[in-house]
Amino acid sequence: DRINVAIDGPAGAGKSTVARKVAEKLGYIYVDTGAMYRAVTLAANRLGIEPHESDRLKKLVESIHIRLKPVVDGQIVLLNEEDVTNAIRTREVTLRVSQVASHEAVRMKLVDMQRELASLKGIVMDGRDIGTQVLPQAELKIFLIASVQIRALRRYQELKENERIPLQQLEQEIADRDRSDEQREISPLSCAKDAIVLDSSELTIDQVVALILDLSRT
Ligand code: C5P
Repeated sequence: DRINVAIDGPAGAGKSTVARKVAEKLGYIYVDTGAMYRAVTLAANRLGIEPHESDRLKKLVESIHIRLKPVVDGQIVLLNEEDVTNAIRTREVTLRVSQVASHEAVRMKLVDMQRELASLKGIVMDGRDIGTQVLPQAELKIFLIASVQIRALRRYQELKENERIPLQQLEQEIADRDRSDEQREISPLSCAKDAIVLDSSELTIDQVVALILDLSRT
């Protein structure tokens, strides 16, 4: 029987890579909820809406159309049918997304969409509040963690040469985003009581994937 898998955890713990591979192996659909918050943030940036402008963000989220289109090796992110898969990964978006995601109106809209996507089962969804808020009934919940140092190093290695910023600054930005995600009032990043905590600091991606696949079969 098909199940739903929720994968939560802080930025850079490897959630999206792991979730994509688990979905591929199980023949499930991968849903990257962070990409949805990023798409809202990109739309806001383009219109000059600041991350604290609650009313404007509420109107924005009601007027835009976000769609995740599954493809062989992951998903394409569409904002009003424009492919923004790469545009949502810039630093300008990353630095603002946590604050945009702290508004209730934004979360309500996206959480509704996420629940609908999962209604058919056979979904691997990653985010911050999937096991606690979005899919509290998910059959398997993983909380994926890794040390800040390791997460910063992994991000650093992903950056292209012309995008490089000092490792220490990256560490600081990741720690700041953790704090902001953990301390917001609604749906803060937290580990569901029935989640299995996996520390990926000393594991390869494939080892983490293998562990989750084992868990999905029990
Ligand atoms: O997963 P990713 O790092 O792309 O997520 C970007 C941001 O979106 C997170 O830092 C968090 O503020 C927000 N987010 C969220 N709830 C989710 C997924 C992401 O608040 N389910």
